[in-house]
Amino acid sequence: MPTAYKNLIDGEMIETADTLDVVNPANEEVIGVVPACGRDELDRAVAAARRAFRTWSKTPIEERRQAVQAVAKIISDNHEELYRLLTSEQGKPHGQAKGEILGAAYMAGNQATLELEDEINEDSDTRLSRTRRVPVGVVGGIVPWNFPVMMAMQKIAPAMLSGCTIVLKPSPFTPLATLRLAELIKDAMPAGVVNIITGEDALGPMITGHPDIDKITFTGSTATGKKIMEGASADLKRITLELGGNDAAIVLPDADVEKVAEKLFWSSFSNAGQVCIASKRIYIHEDIYDELSAAIAEYAKGVTVGDGSQQGTGVGPIQNRKQFERVCELIQDARDNGYKFLLGGDTDPSGSGYYVPITILDNPPEDARIVAEEQFGPVMPLMKFSTEEEVLERANNSEYGLAGSVWTRDTDRGVKLAEQMETGTVWINESQHLSPFAPFGGHKQSGFGAEYGKEGLLEFTYPQVITVNKKAMA
Ligand code: NAD
Repeated sequence: MPTAYKNLIDGEMIETADTLDVVNPANEEVIGVVPACGRDELDRAVAAARRAFRTWSKTPIEERRQAVQAVAKIISDNHEELYRLLTSEQGKPHGQAKGEILGAAYMAGNQATLELEDEINEDSDTRLSRTRRVPVGVVGGIVPWNFPVMMAMQKIAPAMLSGCTIVLKPSPFTPLATLRLAELIKDAMPAGVVNIITGEDALGPMITGHPDIDKITFTGSTATGKKIMEGASADLKRITLELGGNDAAIVLPDADVEKVAEKLFWSSFSNAGQVCIASKRIYIHEDIYDELSAAIAEYAKGVTVGDGSQQGTGVGPIQNRKQFERVCELIQDARDNGYKFLLGGDTDPSGSGYYVPITILDNPPEDARIVAEEQFGPVMPLMKFSTEEEVLERANNSEYGLAGSVWTRDTDRGVKLAEQMETGTVWINESQHLSPFAPFGGHKQSGFGAEYGKEGLLEFTYPQVITVNKKAMA
């Protein structure tokens, strides 16, 4: 019997007559039912958020900080229950799910330490000019299915700290851990400050178009991001968009092959490749291409694909059927075009559970779909390059600009190359590392604005300049 979950509106856990089923991607069994909210529930949540905003926006930041820290502690204290639930709805192995839950607590707890201090623009004999930061108001948060809890907290923590209130919509594929989180944290802040409602994709445009929501913070695909920008333009809502990516990893000829093989593998295959900042195109210098590609394939053979709740699983299923079919289609396209596989390449959509074998392609052409598109699955193309100039051009030849990485013993050379990459983040000798103190955001069609760091927090505020003419009335 699937468990029934409730939504959080105005400090109360509520049910709706209509519900949605949530499926475990490891076996396609229905494991939960959640409310299917429509316009009425959204209106109630927005009205609660608006009421709460009046006092929360005036609450001293120290109190808001303590509330965010209390939420972070609740997540960490309940991490075991939350990560098991997360694996059952999202598919990622227990170890990675635990990492997401504890990571969400760590990021929120540290974001809570950020300051929103005033800045003095001018303090002269005649004038005092000061910029203060005021919260934008009611925020609509919309998140995807690959890191549901991390992404929810990525929106909730800065909204709360800045003095905003929020109505958050999880993905219909992965709402369970977020709704359990809602129940756990609901008394850590005044009613209406955080509201979490679930529904089909159609609830998204209702949020974007809601006249009493002031800002949208969205993480998801570039295609949906464009619709959000269009919807938000009606009343010029503020927007932050964290969108898709096609990150290039560039491996220079001096890289340590043994060390890099394992790291590159996980930079592509953690969460079954369903990571916005996964390495999705790996460019290896021709001098070490054969050795490194063989080492990656060898390492990959020791990794088990299976149910994430089982011990020993390294790569879980794809999260949902639609994405599973898309990844299978990309693999089929590679087969149809006669590209060479170092590993994998066989898919079997008939079984139960959305499993794709670890698949590694050997030097497909630059215009192959698996290279040009965001695969968002456990399929990695390895490509050969000769010169830095050539690889930079290939890496930058993308509509996306989320992140990238360079792998080399010569870190100065790595940094020089990194500075020429057209992405919001570039790592040298690591990947997928985000900091609560550094802005994370995409260039080009990977997004708009930033999350985390001071810059991320400021996105939840307007600058207000107060200027006093000291002489006028003297
Ligand atoms: P998606 O765009 O399909 O859905 C994301 C969310 O938007 C879901 O909650 C969905 O219900 C909602 N939605 C769908 N249509 C909508 C509409 N018209 N208006 C408003 N909301 C709508 O994305 P997904 O498939 O859930 O997630 C995968 C994508 O997310 C990938 O492209 C990935 O790269 C990207 N992503 C980006 C980041 C980042 O930080 N840049 C992080 C994680 C995932």
